[in-house]
Amino acid sequence: MVTANAAALLLQHYVDNFRRLPWRTPPGEPPADPYRVWLSEVMLQQTTVAAVTPRFERFIARWPTIHALASASDEEILSEWAGLGYYARARNLIACAREIARQGEFPTSAAELRELPGIGDYTSAAIAAIAFREDAAAVDTNVLRVIARLHGLRNPAKGEVAAFVQDMLPRGRAGDFTQAMMDLGATICRPKVPLCGQCPVRACCLAFRGGTPEAFPAPKPRRERPHRYGVAYWTERGGRVWLVRRPARGLLGGMAALAGSEWAEAPIRGENALGTVRHVFTHFSLDLQVVPRAEPTGEGWWHPVDQLSTAGLPTLYRRAAEIALTEAKHAA
Ligand code: SF4
Repeated sequence: MVTANAAALLLQHYVDNFRRLPWRTPPGEPPADPYRVWLSEVMLQQTTVAAVTPRFERFIARWPTIHALASASDEEILSEWAGLGYYARARNLIACAREIARQGEFPTSAAELRELPGIGDYTSAAIAAIAFREDAAAVDTNVLRVIARLHGLRNPAKGEVAAFVQDMLPRGRAGDFTQAMMDLGATICRPKVPLCGQCPVRACCLAFRGGTPEAFPAPKPRRERPHRYGVAYWTERGGRVWLVRRPARGLLGGMAALAGSEWAEAPIRGENALGTVRHVFTHFSLDLQVVPRAEPTGEGWWHPVDQLSTAGLPTLYRRAAEIALTEAKHAA
C-alpha cells in the first residue's frame, strides 16, 4: 500500500535533488510564473527537457509575458517554434495566448485552464498545481508509469491513476509534489531500465518487490505506421530560394516550406531527384524527394539561401534544403 509516507520520502528526495530548470522555482519558494509553467508544459509535450531548455530561454527573452506573446504575429511565433515539431502545439499556443490576453490574466483553477485552446487534463492540472498550488492530479505518461509500478498495475486507466495521485498528494505541496513525480519518472523510474537502487520510494513499490518493475505497465501493442511519398521543389535563382507557406490547417500548418506535391501512398519515380528525406510523423512516415525546378510554384517569396536559418523552416524542409545545398556544392 502506498502511503503518505511515500509522498514524504518523495518530497524530501525532490528537495535534495530537484532539477534546476528555467521554468521552475526551487522547492519551498513561491510558485513559478504561470506563463513560464504553461509555456514549458506546452513545449515539453513530445519533446525532451534538453531540447526544450534553450528554446524556452529564447522564447522568454523575446516575449517575456503572455501579453507580449499574444501581440506577436503568427509568422513570428511559428518561425521561432520551427524545429520543435508537432506544429499543432504552436498554433494552439498562439490561440491560447490571445485568449488569456483577452481575459486579462491566467485563470487559476484546473477547470478553467482546461477550457483554453490546446490545454488538456494533464496540462491544466500541472499548471494549476505548480503555479497556483491547487491539489490537482497531473497524470502524464511518466506519472502513469510511476503509479502503475508503485501499485503493481498492468493496465491502469488514467482515472484510476489520477485517484491514486490524489490519495498520495500532500495537501498544500501540490507544486513540489507534481514536479517531484515528474523528476522521478524522467530520471529514476525510467521506462526500460528503472534505477530502483536510487529510488526514494522503493520500499513502497509493488513492482520492485515483484522483481520485474520494467514489466509495469504492460506495453501497448504497436500500430503499423503507414508510409507516404512526396516531392519538394528546389527553385533557386540569384542566390535566393522559392519558399511557400503551408495551408493554415493540417500537418505543419502555417509553416514556411518548399513548394511541392501532395503526399500520397503510391511511390513517386523522381528521375532527377537530388536526394530524399525520410521523416517520421506521429501517424505516418514520409519519403520526400528533393527535385530541382526552374520555375517557382504557387504563391510564395524568394528567401536568401545564405540566410535559410531565419526562414522558420520545420526540420523536414530544413533537411530537404540541406540535401539541395550539399548537392549544389558537389556540382560546383
Ligand atoms: Fe520505479 Fe523502481 Fe522506484 Fe518502483 S522502485 S517507483 S519501479 S524506480
